[in-house]
Amino acid sequence: MRHGGSIHTWRARRAPIIAWATLGLLLGTGCHDFIVLPPELPPTAQPLTPLSSYTSWWRATEDCSGTTGELTRVRWFVVPESESFVYRGSRYDGYWWNEVHWITLASAKVEQGALVRHEMLHDLLGRGDHPAEFFQRRCGAVVYCNAECRADG
Ligand SMILES: [Zn+2]
Repeated sequence: MRHGGSIHTWRARRAPIIAWATLGLLLGTGCHDFIVLPPELPPTAQPLTPLSSYTSWWRATEDCSGTTGELTRVRWFVVPESESFVYRGSRYDGYWWNEVHWITLASAKVEQGALVRHEMLHDLLGRGDHPAEFFQRRCGAVVYCNAECRADG
C-alpha cells in the first residue's frame, strides 16, 4: 500500500492546538467576554459522515491497543478530491487534533482502513506521537505505520 503524503508530525503542531483547546476548556463556560476559536482546518475541508466500517475499525483499534473510547466523540472531516493535503506547510494523508477529537482525511484515504485506524489510535491513546508499543507491536497488524512513524517509536 502506497501513501503519498506523510503521517502528520505532531511536534510541529502541538503547541497552538493545545493552547486553543485549553482556552476552550477554561473559558467555555460562564464567560461571555471571549470568543474561543476551534482549531483551524485545512481550507477546503468539509464535514465527513463516518463510514459504517468505522465502527468495526474503531473496535479493532480498541482491541489491539487495550483502550476504550467512544467513536461518537470524533468529528470527521475530508479534503475533497485529494490524495493528501497541505496543512500549515506540511503534507498529510490524515491529521488528528487532540482535545477536540477531530480527524481530517484526504478523500483518497477515507476508505483506507489502516490509515484511518492510525488516526483512531491517536485518538484512543490521546497522544500524537507514535510509541512503538502501540503503533508497531500491539497494533502493528492493524494500523499503518510509515518510516516516520517507526522512527518516532
Ligand atoms: Zn500519526
